[in-house]
Amino acid sequence: MNTDDEDLAQQFASDNYAGICPDAWTAMQTANRGHASAYGDDLWTARAANAFRELFETSCELFFVFNGTAANSLALAALCQSYHSVICCDSSHVETDECGAPEFFSNGSKLLVAQGVDGKLTPDSIHELATKRQDIHYPKPRVVTITEPTETGRVYTVDEVQAISAACKAHGLSLHMDGARFANACASLGCSPADLSWKSGVDVLCFGGTKNGMAVGEAVIFFDPQLAVDFDYRCKQAGQLASKMRFLAAPWVGMLESGSWLSNAVHANRCAAYFADRVAAIPNVTVVSPVDANTVFLSADDDILERLRTRGWKFYTFIGGAARFMFAWDSDLKRVDALLADLEECASAEAAHTLPGAADLKH
Ligand SMILES: *Cc1c(COP(=O)(O)O)cnc(C)c1O
Repeated sequence: MNTDDEDLAQQFASDNYAGICPDAWTAMQTANRGHASAYGDDLWTARAANAFRELFETSCELFFVFNGTAANSLALAALCQSYHSVICCDSSHVETDECGAPEFFSNGSKLLVAQGVDGKLTPDSIHELATKRQDIHYPKPRVVTITEPTETGRVYTVDEVQAISAACKAHGLSLHMDGARFANACASLGCSPADLSWKSGVDVLCFGGTKNGMAVGEAVIFFDPQLAVDFDYRCKQAGQLASKMRFLAAPWVGMLESGSWLSNAVHANRCAAYFADRVAAIPNVTVVSPVDANTVFLSADDDILERLRTRGWKFYTFIGGAARFMFAWDSDLKRVDALLADLEECASAEAAHTLPGAADLKH
């Protein structure tokens, strides 16, 4: 087996580079003792669903699927007919990163894209798209989807979600929340999951487990049981019904019952804040937008970023050209310090313009 250090060193390109957190892992191990009924008809699945009901302080319908693309696109399909449309932000994952799955699984419901500010929809942008056309030739707006936190690392406040929900109600639209990092939003706001979801008018929430510390799995939560009718069939048809469902459910039990769903997110957010605070003191590098959760976007000259890459650091620049750094449940501050030290060297004017980088000197 190749266990080269290079493969093991922490990177901050995405929070899904991290492994499985101890509570999720232990629960999987416990679930691995003996046999259990298949297809969700087991005690782990029931226990995970109940843990969600307790966490959200309400009776909701729970479904466990493999990934976020499936969670979002199947949830949206459940809220739409094929002739309906879904209002989303231009930077949203459903628009930019799901390969057309929302349209595919809804048999053609069109995404209506609003230009976002900080990756957010506003009540005005919803109003504008919902009233743009009323005629039979245009796909009828039926759903609004928002991402919490946004793809640009910002968090909608409870007030903002409520204002969006009010706009949805005014236009007869359902409200879906892509919560791939919902835990980070709760940690950021210090609010309860209930306050940030159904109590603020969210009808369906996709709660991300993978980036929160699980190996795989997202929960689709319907706060209105009417909307969940036949959703189990939809999951099965889409290839999202796990036969050994207990292994999608058990990690949730481990993380919800222990509270690590939240402590993981608190840690990730703190590491992002720590990183951003120290970057502020580095010349020639700018933190692009306020750090609400576990994402930091940096702007720097291409040659500085290239040097950082040469030193072995991985990061993406696909959102607006800024370099994105994300922190996870296991982010190690020593490793964050190492990144900061390299960034500082790469960014100092001298290093950037006259001296070769450390990597160039090695051999
Ligand atoms: C990661 C992510 C998802 C889920 O993506 P999958 O790769 O399909 O699991 C959904 N929405 C957002 C905003 C994400 O960042």
